[in-house]
Amino acid sequence: AAAAVGSSVIPIVNKLQDIFSQLGSSSTIDLPQVAVVGSQSSGKSSVLEALVGRDFLPRGSDICTRRPLVLQLVHQPRRPADAEADEWGEFLHLPGRRFYDFREIRREIQAETDREAGGNKGVSDKQIRLKIYSPNVLNITLVDLPGITKVPVGDQPTDIEARIRTMILSYIKHKTCIILAVSPANADLSNSDALQIARNADPDGSRTIGVITKLDIMDRGTDARNFLLGNVIPLRLGYVGVVNRSQQDIKSDLSIKEALAREESFFRTHPAYNGLAQYCGIPQLAKKLNQILVQHIKTVLPGLKSRISSQLTTTAKELSFYGDPVESKAGQGAKLLNILAKYCEAFSSMVEGKNEDISTI
Ligand code: GDP
Ligand code: MG
Repeated sequence: AAAAVGSSVIPIVNKLQDIFSQLGSSSTIDLPQVAVVGSQSSGKSSVLEALVGRDFLPRGSDICTRRPLVLQLVHQPRRPADAEADEWGEFLHLPGRRFYDFREIRREIQAETDREAGGNKGVSDKQIRLKIYSPNVLNITLVDLPGITKVPVGDQPTDIEARIRTMILSYIKHKTCIILAVSPANADLSNSDALQIARNADPDGSRTIGVITKLDIMDRGTDARNFLLGNVIPLRLGYVGVVNRSQQDIKSDLSIKEALAREESFFRTHPAYNGLAQYCGIPQLAKKLNQILVQHIKTVLPGLKSRISSQLTTTAKELSFYGDPVESKAGQGAKLLNILAKYCEAFSSMVEGKNEDISTI
């Protein structure tokens, strides 16, 4: 029941990644990292969770994310024999231990946060690294970050705000990082911490997507229509508005699936968002991310192809020098290259078919 990230390109990109991995580590597609930024409790962890399609991140009205969580999604083939066992998590600090129960993953994130940052709201920049293996995901890295806070509480030092800002910037300054700037709609959007820090790292907004959460609990009589349309603070990649689960929903264990259905009906029935379907909902955010990834792959594919071709030529020459055995490495390489060429073509034509979508980013 899962994984919105890249649902439509998953099969073909995964196939490409499989082929590249057979050719050795020098020729893989490195997909960009995606990081969430924003003020505390703006809904960052909720957004990431909804994108992955599984419940596993600590969320709440208090400070929950107190260490950076680097979440590496690892695609693996579906296992028909044992459906239970083809999706699990593994922490770097607990090598070899597979977590099949995602609620246990959440408990371990909490316990590991306490081990490093203490039990009293302390924050640490030491990463927690979690890999999730699943047939439903792309090989991509998502980073959940502590939110910006202004007033130190518990064990937090007096310069907590500056420390958290520095921590966030150390992730989002990298040119390959896609920034999800998360702002809650029930606060003043034009004062958004998220948009401010994103602009710091990405002044021309070429890799920032604005995400507006909590549209369901805005002041009565107000809506985020103008904001979503980019009329207030323009962003090149635009905005997506979402409705995640509330604290009450978390208490009553509302599933991601139910939450997505409810979000869909919210946007369908709310008059203010009439005609704005492409700016609304988690699936739309996933689609936007998708388009960015597709664009990225499209840019790197020709280089990869020619690198593999020349590798192949070199190997073939070398082998002919020694006298070539029957089913040689070169033979396998040629086969792979053929398959690769086929997928590249399929991928390109798929992308061409979606040209209109892509030109909007
Ligand atoms: P983070 O601190 O930015 O990671 O925020 P969380 O994802 O932990 O969410 C903070 C609180 O806001 C939690 O209680 C969530 O249930 C709640 N929340 C997040 N998004 C929404 C939303 O779209 N609508 C409502 N009503 N509550 C939300
Ligand atoms: Mg969080």
